[in-house]
Amino acid sequence: MFQTIAVIGSGTMGNGIAHLFAQHDYPVHLIDISAAQLEKALLTISKNLDRQIAKGILTEEQKKSALARIRSFQDIEEGVASADLVIEAATENAELKLNLFARLDQATPPSCILASNTSSISITKIAAATNRQGKVIGMHFMNPVPVMKLVEIINGYSTEKKVTEQIVNLSKRLGKTPCVVNDYPGFIANRILMPMINEAIYSLYEGVAGVAEIDAIMKLGMGHPMGPLQLADFIGLDTCHAILKVMYEGMGRPHHAPCPLLTNMVTAGCLGVKSGEGFYSYTPGAKELTVSQRFSS
Ligand code: NAD
Repeated sequence: MFQTIAVIGSGTMGNGIAHLFAQHDYPVHLIDISAAQLEKALLTISKNLDRQIAKGILTEEQKKSALARIRSFQDIEEGVASADLVIEAATENAELKLNLFARLDQATPPSCILASNTSSISITKIAAATNRQGKVIGMHFMNPVPVMKLVEIINGYSTEKKVTEQIVNLSKRLGKTPCVVNDYPGFIANRILMPMINEAIYSLYEGVAGVAEIDAIMKLGMGHPMGPLQLADFIGLDTCHAILKVMYEGMGRPHHAPCPLLTNMVTAGCLGVKSGEGFYSYTPGAKELTVSQRFSS
């Protein structure tokens, strides 16, 4: 069905999306403005493929072929020129995405479907930056992409029915379970998840409990696999902050306003796993989860 997939952004999500498609035999053009980030992404993909080998999911041979299917590009126009599906997974910033989609509209064949992995930004607004609103859709993968089963598919106001069907079928071919939703701030996944994460950060900020206690209560009491503060670190605190802002601006509900502690941490560059410091500290190779010194008593 699709011949070449272009993935824009090679950060936390982009590398996982490239990995998933390459593992399922699709040629992938992985595009990022940062050469260092592209290099890091290829290393991450290689390590994650090794984990699948260790679990018996893949063979060495399949790893080699998957890696050989990924080509990296710094030039967006060059990377998307022959694509029939683009999945944008760049930083969660509306202005950046609107600019990108206007460029993608010019640089891709008219039949190419333009999907965004955005967590919260309006697909209708992104589509309006193009001259092909019917071919713009949300394809929201979960982190880590090769592992998590869900793809939340978001229909913009003008998304064509046929395009939704193609993306639903593609998600199934990738071994995922697609769920189609409508285009309102945060869609479903983050509309429900982010208020919980924000409340966990408020609980820490107001001194109700410490990092370890908040996460233990939600893990042991609610059966969550990861506490909300660890999950926020894993998602990226900048991404959580950006999603909450979109939801607050879009719905005007006070509990969506990002907690001031989250704002401070993002301003200081404490972004969670990707920066090495968030509610926890992340040292390469460490086996135990350690609460950041700032929050340990
Ligand atoms: P990230 O910060 O890890 O990576 C973003 C990447 O985009 C960086 O490598 C950056 O260099 C690149 N980039 C920025 N501007 C670019 C441009 N103009 N052209 C090409 N590349 C550009 O972010 P992430 O966590 O991977 O998030 C990416 C998208 O996926 C966001 O829209 C986010 O909301 C969404 N998302 C994130 C998660 C998560 O758990 N982190 C889950 C689902 C969806």
